[in-house]
Amino acid sequence: MKVFISADMEGVTGVVHRDQLVPDGKTYERARKLMTADVNAVITGALRVEPSAEFIVCDGHGVMRNLIIEELHEAAQLVIGPASPSNKPLCQSQGCDETCQVAFFTGYHSRAGTPNGLLCHTWVGSAITNIRINGEIVGETALNAAVVGHWNIPVALVSGAHELEPEARASIPEGFVFVGTKQTYGFSAALCLPPAKTRKLLEEGATEAMKRFKAGKVKPHKPTLPVTISVEFHRREMAAKAAEISGIERTDERTIAAKAANTVEAAERAWKAVCRAQEEEPGWLK
Ligand SMILES: [Zn+2]
Repeated sequence: MKVFISADMEGVTGVVHRDQLVPDGKTYERARKLMTADVNAVITGALRVEPSAEFIVCDGHGVMRNLIIEELHEAAQLVIGPASPSNKPLCQSQGCDETCQVAFFTGYHSRAGTPNGLLCHTWVGSAITNIRINGEIVGETALNAAVVGHWNIPVALVSGAHELEPEARASIPEGFVFVGTKQTYGFSAALCLPPAKTRKLLEEGATEAMKRFKAGKVKPHKPTLPVTISVEFHRREMAAKAAEISGIERTDERTIAAKAANTVEAAERAWKAVCRAQEEEPGWLK
């Protein structure tokens, strides 16, 4: 059995602040260790149910070179490298394909605009106001669940700060295990459980997630096809730049849409458009 793990960083044990999320942050090196430990914990828990399982882990945060491979569980292989469209067209779901059976999302965070959401954003906080799938506002949990759902892969575990749970439960099929790593106070503060505790919760959560998967209790997230992923930018200049990508339609001043036969094609095209938008001269962002 092959398990796909999409690993983000904002929802990782003990992470609450931008300083922990970027390579020039003074506390980044410690946060990388915490991120790696969270991933190892879900692998350990899953192996209790499926001792021969293999794991494909996609480093899905920022520079996408955060996880420390020297410390990664030997049952895993790691997707490393920036998510340029030519490199990793599936961004946080790169490495997933029809050979995987089930997915875990670790270190995830609430979507852009979540009141008091811890480090909340969707894909690119500095550029994107909202992302919608078939008109429904989504966060990265539903976005990536829709991508892996293309191969009928269900999401069996999501971990992150507590306010992510209702978002996840409202936007992807029920049955998955949610592991809360911290209680959010505001955008950059939370009441955090220490790693010794979250490790146990993540291990137990992954064991339960694998049991639920094997019992057929988790279902893939499959939006109606053809699917439209639309991206509402903060600035109209970004939408104009994004609309240069073929297959992208500009639906209003600040919004573009990628309509495709399936979620993988739509997500790839939307991500390509977002990357193009970020090539825009940053001067006007000030
Ligand atoms: Zn992130």
